Amino acid sequence: MSEIRTRFAPSPTGFLHLGSARTALFNWAYARRHGGKLILRIEDTDRLRSRRESEEAINDGLRWLGIEWDEGPFRQSERAERHAEVIASLVASRQAYRCRCTQEELEERKQRTIAAGGKWTYDGRCRDLDLGEECGPHTVRLRIREGADLSWNDGVFGHSGQDAREIGDMIIRRSDGNALFNVAVVVDDLDMGISHVIRGADHHPNTPFQIAIYQALNVEPPQFAHVPLIVGTGGKKLSKRRDPVSIQHFRAEGYLPQAVCNWLIRLGWSHGDQEVFSAEEITSLFDLEAVNRSSAQADPGKFQWLNQHYLKQLPGNQLLREVLPFLEAEVDAKVEVTPGLERLLDLLRERSKTLVEMAQQARFLVVDAIEIDEKAARKHLKPAIAPALSSLAEALDELGDWSESEIEAAFERVLAAHGDLKIGKLAQPVRVAITGGTISPGIFETLAALGHEKAVRRIRAAIRGVESTAESRTD
Ligand code: GLU
Repeated sequence: MSEIRTRFAPSPTGFLHLGSARTALFNWAYARRHGGKLILRIEDTDRLRSRRESEEAINDGLRWLGIEWDEGPFRQSERAERHAEVIASLVASRQAYRCRCTQEELEERKQRTIAAGGKWTYDGRCRDLDLGEECGPHTVRLRIREGADLSWNDGVFGHSGQDAREIGDMIIRRSDGNALFNVAVVVDDLDMGISHVIRGADHHPNTPFQIAIYQALNVEPPQFAHVPLIVGTGGKKLSKRRDPVSIQHFRAEGYLPQAVCNWLIRLGWSHGDQEVFSAEEITSLFDLEAVNRSSAQADPGKFQWLNQHYLKQLPGNQLLREVLPFLEAEVDAKVEVTPGLERLLDLLRERSKTLVEMAQQARFLVVDAIEIDEKAARKHLKPAIAPALSSLAEALDELGDWSESEIEAAFERVLAAHGDLKIGKLAQPVRVAITGGTISPGIFETLAALGHEKAVRRIRAAIRGVESTAESRTD
């Protein structure tokens, strides 16, 4: 079998969108699985909507996801001459012809046909006129043979096609000289030796037009596979305005690229009931046969679950590298890496679904002074607990070895000395005192990670806070 060559051909009109990213992933996985190549082609012929920033954003998004391309990026706009050359060759071989019907004329004939109960396709008025370049403003149309077979066996949808009569002689070059989108796609796919066109199902209706162009050029079309659209929960179409749909958004929300890829590959493709796929599994298992024909529902719950799964699995140094930028943004300062921070992050894997959540939960450890949540203080930092807190501050202050077990032993001594106080009664006030809130990993681990000096200082500050509110109440 000849080389498998797939392509990802985004239009640079915005960020890398969820649906496009999945198309890219499918193309990448297919090429890798079969030892082939992935080509990146930027389809920027829509001059009004195409943006260089968007091209950058797409490249960035792909790199972040780990989708490496082997050739390109090529820009479709830089190939306009080549598109014109192919159209000229089609005119020369009489597969295409010049048409000087104006839009008004066409519209008028169309309305007449429809009024008479007919269906409009181009009526062939200029078909056999053999108009030359000097005919004035003109378009170029492809000569579609009646009875031409415009069907194909789609890798996902199976037998597909359209009756050539419904298409009629279609325009392939506008009167301004620009090639139509379908021509540019076909010429580029041909020149780039694409063997498999894997793209969104929204392009399924373009395929008969493209096949007609391949036939006019007398070459075999590539294999086509159209992947169903991604829809939101409840089957609703994703909306750019309502739904978070850009890869950059998920990145900023603290999702890991592994989780995004894993989530995307499962949108429309399955392998038994397996949910978790490493990049190696994606590139060794993905195939088109198992791509579903119905739309793929994006389930945010599963996405978060996957992200947490990968957060739990990251080696410590990588986790640190991933969280650090989020943590620095959270506290708006450079963060010093300490063993305590590394330990805390390790503990937070069980409790965070995203890097953003993890940074929020690690904030207390890296700031100098915490702000104590008022509601938590009112509930847990009451005068009655002040004596036990004071004893604990003393006991902790005296510890020679700042380890979880020594901290636990100090707690036990204080609890026993305060009329067998229950651990929960003391742990929660301490938690509020050292983190500012009511949620953190186990109290001994959290204290150990925070460090000796900061822990004792914060408990003492909390005691002073309790005492001053008690005084202001008695005043
Ligand atoms: N540029 C088109 C898009 O972004 C893709 C065209 C194709 O894959 O054939 O939707």
